[in-house]
Amino acid sequence: MRELPLFFEQVNRYFDRAKPLLDHPEGLLKQIKACNAVYHLSFPLRRDDGTIEVIHGWRAHHSQHRLPVKGGFRLTVHASEDEVTALAALMTYKCALMDIPFGGAKGAIKIEKDDYSSGELERIIRRYTFELVQRNCIGPGVDVPGPDMGVSTREIAWMSDTYCQLSRGEESALGAVTGKPLGSGGVRGRVEATGRGVYFGIREAVSFREDMDRLGLSTGLDGKRVVIQGLGNVGYHAGRLLTQDGVLVVGILERDGGIYDPKGLDVEEVYRHRENGGSILELEAPRKVGREDRPAGLEWPCDILIPAALENVIGKENAPRIQAKIVAEAANGPTTANAGEILEERGVLQIPDLYLNAGGVTVSYFEWIKNLSHVRFGRLERRFQAASNHRMLRAIESITERDFDVGTIDELAVGASEEDLVNSGLEETMVAGYHDVRELARRKGTGLRNAAFAIAMEKVATSYEERGIFP
Ligand code: NAD
Repeated sequence: MRELPLFFEQVNRYFDRAKPLLDHPEGLLKQIKACNAVYHLSFPLRRDDGTIEVIHGWRAHHSQHRLPVKGGFRLTVHASEDEVTALAALMTYKCALMDIPFGGAKGAIKIEKDDYSSGELERIIRRYTFELVQRNCIGPGVDVPGPDMGVSTREIAWMSDTYCQLSRGEESALGAVTGKPLGSGGVRGRVEATGRGVYFGIREAVSFREDMDRLGLSTGLDGKRVVIQGLGNVGYHAGRLLTQDGVLVVGILERDGGIYDPKGLDVEEVYRHRENGGSILELEAPRKVGREDRPAGLEWPCDILIPAALENVIGKENAPRIQAKIVAEAANGPTTANAGEILEERGVLQIPDLYLNAGGVTVSYFEWIKNLSHVRFGRLERRFQAASNHRMLRAIESITERDFDVGTIDELAVGASEEDLVNSGLEETMVAGYHDVRELARRKGTGLRNAAFAIAMEKVATSYEERGIFP
């Protein structure tokens, strides 16, 4: 029988396991663990055929130790109060771990997206946003939703537009939602940010010789074999960037089944084929699994397994059969606590979700800063930087008595664009984050997940202790 544990309970088990690494009063730790508030919303939708349907949604505020709280919202028929609560808790720990000054939140609307027309979806999103406004659950200083599963820039644009209309001229209203299209206050690099962060995180993990020796792997990405579950926003961009560094994506698992080719699959081709409405099973591959057997694909031979779709997909039943040496958690909560223990005993390196998929919220933070400051990153300094670089190159030419060719000057004498700055800030955050987590794990002789939770919990506890608890 497949183990399907409660998700919030799983997150709390990870929390409890990290407690011995900290020295804080039990009561304070209990407060950090508890979810501050969960709002269950239900509202009517008039469907295109005139019938009326009740739509259910949630918004959970796990921790308001910092405001605004931040977290995406997802569109899925599997949404539940337990799921949003667990995901909100992960957001609290993720933001704390990565030094992003937000509390943790998450939202969901319980629908099968494909069953609704574009007009119906727009009415659902706009009404959900209206319900959030009524409860003070959205706004640049209180709660900032962003994209998650099933949510693209289109849905985010509807949400932002609804908020802006209702906010009646609030100066920073665009900062109420992140993941917006570029023309509507978005930031360059946000769409691919989570996948790019996953790429930076894995690249960092495989760069340590000592860790790779222990796993029997070489250092570096080149030639590593990867299986990806879920070729959506996160999985696709992570796969695309890893491939550019020589990784072979040997397996891809999707809703309708999975394909495996030890020589490597063309991530771009698979993605385009699915975008155009095709099934992954229509593509040529030496090994395939159908819809019913797709969990077996997680056990395909590879060096790195990237679950990038759903929670609880690695449980105690299949954990002993996972062949990957590294499990890189791009999705939220893909590994149950029991499975995590089994993988750890087997020596599998687990790169935990709260670190690895933090790229999305990191760049959302940059987008929020842009919306509050009302100026594009790089706008003030780009030309100044380019001119300084130019002067420096001319000075080198005169000292060395050697002229650079025009192409070299054009290439080197540039200032940073918004995208350059966003990607550089993301890289810095992911690289520094990995070093912090790995360092604590080494010092305490524990796994990366335990260390990541301990760092996050310590920061939330300190924030409470410094400011006191409101009576
Ligand atoms: P998405 O909807 O863009 O992609 C999910 C993909 O998984 C889709 O292609 C879907 O068809 C596939 N899928 C669904 N069920 C599957 C199954 N049973 N087996 C295999 N594939 C399946 O969602 P996303 O934004 O890429 O999010 C994926 C995961 O990453 C989620 O856990 C989400 O919480 C997490 N995440 C997303 C972001 C973000 O910025 N989008 C940020 C942090 C974490």
